[in-house]
Amino acid sequence: MLTGMQIGIIGGDARQLEVIQKCSELDATVVLIGFDNLQNGFSGISKTELTAEALKDLDAVILPAVGTDDQGRVDSLFSSQEMYLTEELMAALPKQATVFTGMAKPYLRSLCANADIVLVELLDRDDVAIYNSIPTAEGAIMMAIQNSDITIHGSSCMVLGFGRTGFTLARTLHGMGAHVKVGIHRPEYYARAHEMGLSPFYTSELISHASKTDFVFNTIPSLIITPQVIANLPHRALIIDLASKPGGTDFRFAEKRGVKAMLAPGLPGIVAPKTAGRIMADTITRIMMQQAKDKEE
Ligand code: NAP
Repeated sequence: MLTGMQIGIIGGDARQLEVIQKCSELDATVVLIGFDNLQNGFSGISKTELTAEALKDLDAVILPAVGTDDQGRVDSLFSSQEMYLTEELMAALPKQATVFTGMAKPYLRSLCANADIVLVELLDRDDVAIYNSIPTAEGAIMMAIQNSDITIHGSSCMVLGFGRTGFTLARTLHGMGAHVKVGIHRPEYYARAHEMGLSPFYTSELISHASKTDFVFNTIPSLIITPQVIANLPHRALIIDLASKPGGTDFRFAEKRGVKAMLAPGLPGIVAPKTAGRIMADTITRIMMQQAKDKEE
């Protein structure tokens, strides 16, 4: 339980509703900041504005998946007012407080470092990335279905990268009856992909594997789908780039060549906000309960 813990939830989107509910179920005292338009009445939860006074007794601050922008702005789907996290506000937090976010920009990292506050970036964690790979894979496949006139079953799919997202996606496509080629760069990944009945190849030889591909799913966060690769893809191919911005595709050349390419960021929050919120909520509360236990010992 989180009895006695004070948690400030600042801004966010539908995912935060799951976090609010879970923290409240675990008996934490929850303060919502930047939720003035939220209709969903959670009982026993107060709303306030972003001030030093509101932060001064908190044990944890929960920010949206993208914590702040480069100027410290915190987005909220539930408020039309602009909110900024500043050095001054951060200094008001107790030193033992923890700040949670999905992924922090340098601004938030230095704000926390300067105030000597622990920052937890949830999307950095293996467990969260693996859970998130499920809605990501489902969202990527949804996009492939919506933007093509063939079935996944029987199609020729290429998955680039065999990390947390690539692994789940390749296995799901294989389960749907697709022929799945996997672009890897380590022998142990090659062996695993082979064991799973997939067709692995080394990305150093990507160009020669590009032909006869219907769908390319990229999870490698660096330029991998180069003009040479695109030139070797059939015109019918669809590229769905999942890697963080700017993705791993030369989008300018893809457009010029007439190959459809789409950057698809933030799929868990788009296709399954409730599940994505639950993943965040479970992880945050688990970390907080462990922190409370450590303090007791
Ligand atoms: P990950 O586990 O690090 O997977 C990336 C994989 O690519 C790693 O296994 C890495 O190998 C491999 N790789 C890097 N360069 C390569 C190359 N030249 N050839 C072959 N493989 C290469 O990361 P992830 O969690 O799967 O996430 C992948 C990307 O998707 C990230 O940019 C992430 O931000 C993004 N993402 C997007 C969404 C969305 O909704 N669009 C959702 C989740 C994640 P090593 O193991 O050797 O490093």
